[in-house]
Amino acid sequence: MIPVTSFEGKNIALFGLGGSGLATARALAAGGAHVSVWDDSSTARENAFAEGFFPVDLHEADWSVFSAFVLAPGVPLTHPKPHWSVELAQKAGVAIIGDIELFCRERAIHAPGAPLIAITGTNGKSTTTALIAHILREAGLDVQMGGNIGVPILELEPPAAERVHVVECSTFQIDLAPSLDPSIGLLLNLTPDHLDRHGSMENYAAIKQRLVAAADYAIVGRDDAWCEAIFQGLKQAGRSVVGVTNSRPQALASVCYDSGRLRRAFALPALKTLEEVLFDLSRAENLRGAHNGQNAAAAFAACERIGLPHDEIGLGMRSFPGLAHRMEQVGKRGAVLFVNDSKATNADAAEKALASFDNIFWIAGGRAKAGGIEPLRPLFGRIAKAYLIGEAAEDFAATLEGEVAFERCGTLDAALAAAADDAGESDAPEPVVLLSPACASYDQFANFEKRGDAFREQVGLLLKDEGEQGALF
Ligand code: ADP
Repeated sequence: MIPVTSFEGKNIALFGLGGSGLATARALAAGGAHVSVWDDSSTARENAFAEGFFPVDLHEADWSVFSAFVLAPGVPLTHPKPHWSVELAQKAGVAIIGDIELFCRERAIHAPGAPLIAITGTNGKSTTTALIAHILREAGLDVQMGGNIGVPILELEPPAAERVHVVECSTFQIDLAPSLDPSIGLLLNLTPDHLDRHGSMENYAAIKQRLVAAADYAIVGRDDAWCEAIFQGLKQAGRSVVGVTNSRPQALASVCYDSGRLRRAFALPALKTLEEVLFDLSRAENLRGAHNGQNAAAAFAACERIGLPHDEIGLGMRSFPGLAHRMEQVGKRGAVLFVNDSKATNADAAEKALASFDNIFWIAGGRAKAGGIEPLRPLFGRIAKAYLIGEAAEDFAATLEGEVAFERCGTLDAALAAAADDAGESDAPEPVVLLSPACASYDQFANFEKRGDAFREQVGLLLKDEGEQGALF
C-alpha cells in the first residue's frame, strides 16, 4: 500500500466505496488524513464501517472543512450530469481528485522522477499495460502494475527510483488527475466510446491527450485521425514523441507493425531509407492480429525507452501469456485450437478476433448490441460455421442466412460441443473454435468473465476425456 502523506492531518471527503474507493480511503488514513466516506449504497457504507471508517452523509456535511474531495472513477464528474456530490464540492470550492492524482503527489514528494509508464486509449489498454509489465518483469526489473487493470494504484508498492510503475488509466482517472506527468505516456487510439459519459469526441480526446501532453516521453498511435493530430501537435511543439502504427508501413521513425513484423524505417540522404526489423511478431503466439500489432509496437517503444535491449524485449513478447478472455488460447485438441474471446461484447471487438484467424468455428450470441453482426459481413469468408446462443440467435441467423452455415444451439455448452465436433472433422491446418460473442452476456451469465470462465471450464472437461490428445493451456 502507498500511504498518502500529502493530506496528513487534513480532512478529506471521499465518495464511492467500491474496490478502489475503499483502497483509497485506507491509503489516506494510513498517511494520517481524516477521511469522511460516503456511498449511495448502504452495503458499501456498511463494508467501510466494518473496516473502521465512519460514514458521513456528504449531503449534510460541512464542506468548508475539507481540503479535497476524492471521487471514485466512474462516478460522473461532468456527463451525463455531475453527481450530486460533485455539485456540492464545486459549490464549496473543494478540489475534486482521484486515486491516480494522490499517487502522483506521493511520487512527486518521495520519489520525483521515478519511472512511471501510463497507458490510455479507447482499446488495447489492458493488453498493452500487461505486456509492458510482463516484458520488464521478465527482464528482471522491479515492476508494479495496476490502476484501471487489476490492483488499485494505491494498493501497489510505493514509487522508488529503481521501481517501474506501469499504470492503465481510464478517461475518468485522467480527468481526476491534473498533475499526472508520467515519464512515459502512451495513447494508443481514439474512437467514439462511452460518449454519453464524456460529452463529445472533442472532450473525450482532450482528456486522453493530457496524459501524453504531460509526459516526458510520449508514444502515440497514428492509426486514427484523432491520435494522428495529437502526434503531429506534440511533434510541432518540439516534444519527445514517437509514433506507433499498424496501418502506415511507410511512416518514418515510428515503430510500425507490418506483415507480421515490428520494424522502423529512417530517411537517408538521396531519398533512400534504412529499414530496421525490430521483432518478428509471428513468434509471439498470444499477440495475434493487427490490433495486437499496434499494442506490441507501443509496448516495444516503451520498453526500448526504459533501456531494454531489443532481444530482451523480444523474449518478453514471446512469453507473454495474454490476458484472460481476450483471444485467450485455452486449449488444443489435435489441430483444433480453442480460443476464449468472451470480452468481445460488441461487433467491433469480435471483428478483431475474426480477422486474426482462418477456419473459424464461431460461437456467437447473447444479448445483442445495436447493429448486430452486420458490420462483420466482410469477414464471413473466414467462418466455417457459426453456433448461435442466447437472445441474439434469431437476429444473427437472419444476417448469416445464405452466407455462412449456422446452427441454433441455445446454450454455450451445446454450442461448444457442436463446434468441437465439427472442427475435429475439419481438414484445415488449424481449425479454431472461437468464442467471440459480439454480444453482452447478461441474458445467460453474470458478466463476460463468467461466460469466458464457463467456456474455459467446458473446454477443460472436453479435453479431459481426450487423455493424451488434448492439452489445456
Ligand atoms: P481495454 O483495456 O482498452 O478495454 P483490452 O486490451 O482489454 O482493451 O482489449 C479489449 C478488446 O479490444 C480486445 O479483445 C480486442 O477486441 C480489442 N483491442 C485490443 N487492442 C486493440 C487495439 N490496439 N485497437 C483496437 N482494438 C483493440
